[in-house]
Amino acid sequence: AYVIAEPCIDVKDRACIEDCPVDAIYEGPRGTYISPLECIDCGACAEACPAGAVFFVGDLPAKWKDWTAANAEFFEIN
Ligand code: SF4
Repeated sequence: AYVIAEPCIDVKDRACIEDCPVDAIYEGPRGTYISPLECIDCGACAEACPAGAVFFVGDLPAKWKDWTAANAEFFEIN
């Protein structure tokens, strides 16, 4: 799955939400989150994001690795 990291917080451009073909992206209070159960790995959200906040889970920069867990927490997936 793709993961939205720190640069989204308080930016929430929402371009990704419009471009996701399966509506896998949801809005939280300060950022947006990708459902790992719904994402089909198309990459459209990463291209759409003006903040450069979206990465394939395996390509997350080291400093943002914990955003995978933050994402799972948002969807209450353990
Ligand atoms: Fe949606 Fe594709 Fe991004 Fe997954 S990679 S969240 S399917 S736009």
